[in-house]
Amino acid sequence: MDVLQLDVSGRPQAWISAKEAAVIYACDGVAWTLGDPFWVLRGGTQRRTGLQSRIEVHPIIAVRGAIPSRAWRTVPALSNPKLFARDRYLCAYCGHQFPQDDLTREHIRPTSRGGGDTWMNCITACRGCNGRKGNRMPEEANMSLIYLPYVPSLHEDMILRGRRILADQMEFLLASVPKHSRLHG
Ligand SMILES: [Zn+2]
Repeated sequence: MDVLQLDVSGRPQAWISAKEAAVIYACDGVAWTLGDPFWVLRGGTQRRTGLQSRIEVHPIIAVRGAIPSRAWRTVPALSNPKLFARDRYLCAYCGHQFPQDDLTREHIRPTSRGGGDTWMNCITACRGCNGRKGNRMPEEANMSLIYLPYVPSLHEDMILRGRRILADQMEFLLASVPKHSRLHG
């Protein structure tokens, strides 16, 4: 299970492993936490007190101090796994759901005709539909989109790239995901 790392103002920064989180706890870098601890790390026995050290790791931690520059990026980076998750693994042309291996990143305006490799110009399509559309605009190919592209918010991006997301983390992130997002569907 991964830990959702926030800055002190509650802005999502990254998914980190429970071990990475434990290091931040040990350095007294955790400002506040959300959710019940889901993992306890037991350390060595302290010679003076005879007590074993333990760190309880929470699903969401806000970290003091320096903020990595990537946290300030407003548009999340585009990747195929995140694009397919945004579009719920549905082909935008035929409307069928496919496993990730059978999906492609389809450029609505082809890159050869000036279309950008961006969230707003990319949509999920099955191999068949992508091949059929080829180097044409959707209207030229007489193929219409059954849903529209959009740029995910920072909170939504954290959901799209999370592997296994705990209920506490999902609740926190979804609260800030815009209403138009397909993740609410
Ligand atoms: Zn299709």
